[in-house]
Amino acid sequence: MDFKSVEYIWSTIKVIPFAVVLYDSQKQTYKVNSQAQSIFDLPSQNNFIEADFKNVILTSPESKKHLKINQLFEKYLVINTSCHILLHKNNTALQLNAKLAQLSNNLHIATFDVIKQSKDEQYNFDKIISKISTDLIDIQNDNIDSHIEFALKAIGTVCHADRSYLFKFSDDGKSMRNTHEWVNQGVKPFKDQLQNIPKDALPYFFNLMNTTHIFKVNDVAALPEKAIKEKQEFQLEQIQSVLCIGLRYDKELIGFIGCDCVKQKREWSDLDLIRLKLVGEMIASALKNINYKHELQYIQQQLITANLQLNEQVNTDGLTDIANRRCFDDTLQNELLRCTRHQQPIGLIMCDIDFFKSYNDNYGHQQGDEVLKSVAQALKAMCKRQGDLAARYGGEEFAIILPATDAVNSLKFATLIQKKIEELSIEHNYSSVSSKLTISMGVYSLIPKQNTTAQNLISGADSALYNAKETGRNKIANDSDCK
Ligand code: GH3
Ligand code: MG
Ligand code: MG
Repeated sequence: MDFKSVEYIWSTIKVIPFAVVLYDSQKQTYKVNSQAQSIFDLPSQNNFIEADFKNVILTSPESKKHLKINQLFEKYLVINTSCHILLHKNNTALQLNAKLAQLSNNLHIATFDVIKQSKDEQYNFDKIISKISTDLIDIQNDNIDSHIEFALKAIGTVCHADRSYLFKFSDDGKSMRNTHEWVNQGVKPFKDQLQNIPKDALPYFFNLMNTTHIFKVNDVAALPEKAIKEKQEFQLEQIQSVLCIGLRYDKELIGFIGCDCVKQKREWSDLDLIRLKLVGEMIASALKNINYKHELQYIQQQLITANLQLNEQVNTDGLTDIANRRCFDDTLQNELLRCTRHQQPIGLIMCDIDFFKSYNDNYGHQQGDEVLKSVAQALKAMCKRQGDLAARYGGEEFAIILPATDAVNSLKFATLIQKKIEELSIEHNYSSVSSKLTISMGVYSLIPKQNTTAQNLISGADSALYNAKETGRNKIANDSDCK
């Protein structure tokens, strides 16, 4: 058989859908189709010699002896036409079913298919898968990236790929970006270039992805005409074979994971597909969990904020924006208990605007409201110490709680308030004591006993206030003045 007819025969048989090796015993050369190249990790070329198979380690399962490729033809061809052999690579062993036949005197053909994974490889992958799944299930926000990267490396390695990656779609579903990538040694990464890529750029890819959720190409060069954009993109990235699986989240496609072969083509096996699907499902559910966690955290934060706002509203006086009566009552009760425990004095100042009725009558109720706001803010601004509280007690009355403050210092505080109100310099031409707005204050302070109540304090400050009013207004009276 001459060379031309060998080429002719080869052009027909190389498309057989499993690994094929044609051996010319006379010329000692081999022809290998793409599936066989992939199984034996051989480079893409037309003719091979014995030396090209130096990294292909075959053994016979019975004898466990190393078989060279020519020995395979010579030994098994004469014994029978079908045999099992082991192919060793990457510390694992693939069990191959080899079928051999003689085409002519010097031409021999062998076909190979992978029977099943050896226990070793299956075991390794099971271990990796169980690690990935535990890692991804327990995932926390801060370590999802490293777990996804680990998963991509694992799937890239077991599928003998050169690159593996995760793409996520934008919220509007119109574009995608490469969020995670693993590359084999010496392989160029592309993640940085693959950001915000419009989906329109790969119509053939997305047509398949949307309908079947799988994109499997053994030979990029053989892509159909309608996949011209994809072919250009893959060739730019030197991709020879590509396998992608869609990631779904509540039935919606949120992205995909995939593997590329750059150094040589790969005939993707069903096992590759199953494994990629498995890892894809785990990543999708991890992303789902993270999303749920984010949603939950967001809702919790909203709730906390709403609660804080509600709390503030419940405790704030609508007109003056300082603490209201309810807040005053709670705070007085708490501070009283604290001062009782620590045997510290507690001071209370009750303030009442003088002649406010006539202010309203003459300047109008609205103007009266503005005055209440100014006085309230002035009082609030004075309560700088932790625990001090200025509250609107009711109408034109305010109360100031001064924890850990004795009678002398409470009185000093009241004097400062009086000065501050004077500084506000609010015109009040209808007051009998001044042309400016004034307030009267009753001050009461004591070291509380176990049986001292909030009401005791309020009554003490109130009767002092009454005294301040009785003695002419714009006055500060303390408890002793009432006795
Ligand atoms: P005194 O010096 O004895 O305290 O005289 P007064 O006029 O201030 O006392 P009185 O208790 O007779 O009147 C209090 C006034 O405070 C009557 C009421 O209209 C006014 N007032 C109470 N709450 C508000 C409010 O929210 N806005 C306005 N503008 N006025 C208020
Ligand atoms: Mg009053
Ligand atoms: Mg008043």
